[in-house]
Amino acid sequence: MVATHSHILSPLTLSFTEEVSSGIYLLGFKRTFEFAAGQVIGIALTEDGARRLYSICSGEKDEDVWILYNVIDEGYLTPRLADLEAGDTIWITEPRGEFTSDDDPAVWIASGTGIAPFYSMLKSGRAANKILIHGNRYLEQFHFYDYFTELLGENYTRCCSAEENEGVFHGRVTSFLEEYPLPDPGLKYYLCGSAEMVVDTRDILIEKGVPFDRIISEIYF
Ligand SMILES: Cc1cc2nc3c(=O)[nH]c(=O)nc-3n(C[C@H](O)[C@H](O)[C@H](O)COP(=O)(O)OP(=O)(O)OC[C@H]3O[C@@H](n4cnc5c(N)ncnc54)[C@H](O)[C@@H]3O)c2cc1C
Repeated sequence: MVATHSHILSPLTLSFTEEVSSGIYLLGFKRTFEFAAGQVIGIALTEDGARRLYSICSGEKDEDVWILYNVIDEGYLTPRLADLEAGDTIWITEPRGEFTSDDDPAVWIASGTGIAPFYSMLKSGRAANKILIHGNRYLEQFHFYDYFTELLGENYTRCCSAEENEGVFHGRVTSFLEEYPLPDPGLKYYLCGSAEMVVDTRDILIEKGVPFDRIISEIYF
């Protein structure tokens, strides 16, 4: 990749873009750089266009880089991104960010597209001793469900607030955490997603005895 500084953007060609569930899109392009699972890139439509941050949603050694995003109807970038097709150009910054995982046991908690960094971590070989709790409004939004189940088995919990299904907790991630005992308050807790989920979850974890410095957050604002 041409960029040597996080503020410099490089153009690249989309290999695919797909609406994977209503209003949620996955786009991909050929990987030309190294990154650590959990990092983000900036995306813009032109070199000097408005830029937003996105977690990389693919493995460190995968051939393609994937980005999972939901369209904010009144937003600037995402409705325009959703109109792009394979072969179109976007501009990206180099990867950055500290929301990265190691091999220590940890609990990963995500809402919505906040699942992206955890998928990247799993695809990069960090599944051992990990517990994943994912919240969505609708069942169709649990992307990568098969993969998570295969890798994590019972250590993968889905929390669905608007629909019920067997084996799925009915309610938000925060209700799940309030209702059930924590796996182990001594573990590291990684939170990723909306500000509301991250802030509310952090409060619950602290109340349940998790030290503040064991909680690592990435807020999608
Ligand atoms: C570190 C980081 C990583 C991120 N990674 C991802 C990712 O992997 N996938 C992803 O989909 N998004 C991610 N985001 C959010 C992303 O950067 C944009 O904010 C989002 O895509 C909206 O951009 P936009 O230009 O369409 O809307 P904007 O023009 O930026 O926003 C329009 C309006 O929508 C509100 N808004 C912004 N985001 C949301 C939201 N999620 N839900 C409801 N309202 C919202 C804003 O407050 C504003 O009022 C990340 C953000 C950060 C800070």
